[in-house]
Amino acid sequence: MHNQDTIVAIATAWGEAGIAIVRLSGLRSVELSKSMLRFKAGLGFPPPRLMRLASLIGDNGGVFDQVLAVCFKSPQSYTGEDLVEIHTHGGTLAAQLCVESLIRKGARLAEPGEFTKRAFLNGRIDLSQAESVLGIIRSRSEEALRAAGRTLCGELSVFASDIREELLTLQSELEVGLDFPEESFSYPDKRDEEWLGSISTLRMSLSDLRDRCSAGLLLREGIRVALTGRPNVGKSSLLNALLKQARAIVTAIPGTTRDVIEETVTWKGVPLRLVDTAGLRLLPGTSADLRVRDEIEAIGIKRTLDELRRADICLWVLDISKPLDDEDKAYLKDLLDKEHIVVLNKADLKMTAVSEEDIRASLPEEEMPVILPISARTGEGLELLKDAILSKAMGSGTLDSGLNVTARQLSEIDESLSCLTLAEAAMAEKKGQDIVAGLLGSARECLERLLGLSCDDALLDSIFNHFCVGK
Ligand code: GDP
Repeated sequence: MHNQDTIVAIATAWGEAGIAIVRLSGLRSVELSKSMLRFKAGLGFPPPRLMRLASLIGDNGGVFDQVLAVCFKSPQSYTGEDLVEIHTHGGTLAAQLCVESLIRKGARLAEPGEFTKRAFLNGRIDLSQAESVLGIIRSRSEEALRAAGRTLCGELSVFASDIREELLTLQSELEVGLDFPEESFSYPDKRDEEWLGSISTLRMSLSDLRDRCSAGLLLREGIRVALTGRPNVGKSSLLNALLKQARAIVTAIPGTTRDVIEETVTWKGVPLRLVDTAGLRLLPGTSADLRVRDEIEAIGIKRTLDELRRADICLWVLDISKPLDDEDKAYLKDLLDKEHIVVLNKADLKMTAVSEEDIRASLPEEEMPVILPISARTGEGLELLKDAILSKAMGSGTLDSGLNVTARQLSEIDESLSCLTLAEAAMAEKKGQDIVAGLLGSARECLERLLGLSCDDALLDSIFNHFCVGK
């Protein structure tokens, strides 16, 4: 066991509720909680995993609640230590008094995430599972919750550990070959092509894992969708129609949406984070063309550009009743390096001045934009639009295999993948086994940090500080 302190916290949310749960973990959990509990005549502290009714006794000997108590013995508990839960009545006072009394008796108030941190330190779960606990707590949609559940059950850990082990084997094979080039046990039959084949296979598996993780990240964080287009095409109306609530001010005067407005709607279990932007009056990258009427508008435009950069998908909104002019065509081309959907709004007007063909004609031939006629006013085409957003953002990843990851975990996987890609190239170019082995080693270290096999206290603190107290 790593820690001698017995920690205590209220594990349930603050506020009025049916019950509140006080949780203790550590060597003295049973002893300390016993001193506050009085069981019915003839009954003592319950055996592990059995709940028993008790009176909760204050410091002055008075009863202040009727509670249920249960204990889990080390190592078969969430934290791997002796763990006790006291279920008081909800509302916070009874639980609070219970915690205060336990602290006076020698427990220490748990830090955020300390129960889960102990579970990790005691080998009950690995780091990726510990982080998925946070994913479960934070999930805002059913799909995100399922992805966190898959990670908690160890899907990410199993894949990442398998890849790590294979990397280790490959690396040591290469290194043995380096240390003992003349020896018979130095895998004499293994040819460069075989190494290359093994590295490529690993790279592909890791790349699959990455796709599943990015799908999971989208599920949890949502898809950032920026609505963009020239003033008065109906961006705010579209946002409002999608939200079915009037938040942005809709007016017929061009350029009135000066601030960035963000709202989330959930579609098929996935949060879509919709961002309305100020009416665009310039092209990304052509600030020399800036044609602003005033400074406020300039600030709005800067925010628009920032939002476009951060967005996963841009909705390029056009007014179907207005023919494409040169400015529109230039905007369209500038949008090409982002995932985008062209939205032809105001389809209810039945005045089609711009057709899908016009748009395709103004783009390079290889571009196959998704173009959707819709009406923010009547709601026509909005469901198709939300479907199109989902399928674009998911790419090849699917919702039902998404794995919940934190940004930290995803960046370790990315880093590992780029080391592996470099190793593959180095092998193909016959740059030398030492270089390849070094790159495989770096790829492996990233996965070890992901799994928490090697991590320092600062990293652990930064991960667990995001948890709530009591988890
Ligand atoms: P923004 O500047 O792009 O945000 O445009 P707004 O949402 O403020 O809309 C500009 C004008 O177009 C308003 O008068 C809206 O009522 C009108 N409008 C927006 N969407 C539609 C639509 O689908 N059909 C019709 N007929 N008018 C629309």
